[in-house]
Amino acid sequence: MLEFSSERYFREFSEGLKPIAELPLGEKVRIHTQDCYTGQIGRDGSEGPSMGPNPATGPFYIPGAEKGDTLAVRILHIGLPEYGCMRVYPDSSIGAMGEVITRREVQVLPIQDGYALLDGVRVPLRPMIGVIGVAPADGLTIDNDTPGKHGGNMDDNRIGEGATVYLPVSVPGALFGLGDLHAQMGDGEVAICGLEIAGSVDLELSLIKGRQESWPVVERDGGFSVNCSAGTLDEAAYLSRYALHAFIRRRTSLSPEHIAMLQSLVCDLSVCQIVDPLVTVRMALRPGVLDIAF
Ligand code: CA
Ligand code: CA
Repeated sequence: MLEFSSERYFREFSEGLKPIAELPLGEKVRIHTQDCYTGQIGRDGSEGPSMGPNPATGPFYIPGAEKGDTLAVRILHIGLPEYGCMRVYPDSSIGAMGEVITRREVQVLPIQDGYALLDGVRVPLRPMIGVIGVAPADGLTIDNDTPGKHGGNMDDNRIGEGATVYLPVSVPGALFGLGDLHAQMGDGEVAICGLEIAGSVDLELSLIKGRQESWPVVERDGGFSVNCSAGTLDEAAYLSRYALHAFIRRRTSLSPEHIAMLQSLVCDLSVCQIVDPLVTVRMALRPGVLDIAF
């Protein structure tokens, strides 16, 4: 299997970046990633300097990818390390729990047999990818702390093993990258971090030519969600419910009214995260309701 180390990473998605390698289509590859602290928190809890936005391994050039295409990323496996880290702050501007956090604290949690241990509490793990994306459209540069139409720091805990992420390609070669793995994270990511880990992702890429959605789409167990990011939860919820409506409309002959009814019945509006520079909301069509594909 082709394997890439976490040594070469970037901190902002941009079409100006030079790709570090080509990633083949239709082949299983393994990509190692730094944790969000760029390895600056030691196993003993010691801290090095802060390093800036999430490091993502890449960017990778995807042969044949052009503006208007969709890059489909099938996530096969996430490899876990022996420990993960968390860091919280009393500062209310970092995270959303500042009113009860009285001191800056670093925790290094051992990972064993599918669990992490937090102050004696066994926390089950469900590994996921925080940052996954491609270079944005219109020559924009977007730092790896911020989510958007290009993907980026969406912090969607459904982006894990078995999921496929569909990203709208905006530049030749897509310039794909990923990082910021979490061994576990709840909806909202309220204290600013998941269980932050360095790790590895086994994935397989494919390209859908000549069509794309405006926002990243995540397929899981045959269900589809659209992830939209904006300055407020209200705005992100507005974007994602209409984006899912458009997604279903393009794939069925149902009327707009009936799609809205279905959305009210078997689609779920929920929060990915509320702590990044833009917040992310997903609206998900449950599996087994419509026989559609991306
Ligand atoms: Ca993140
Ligand atoms: Ca993170």
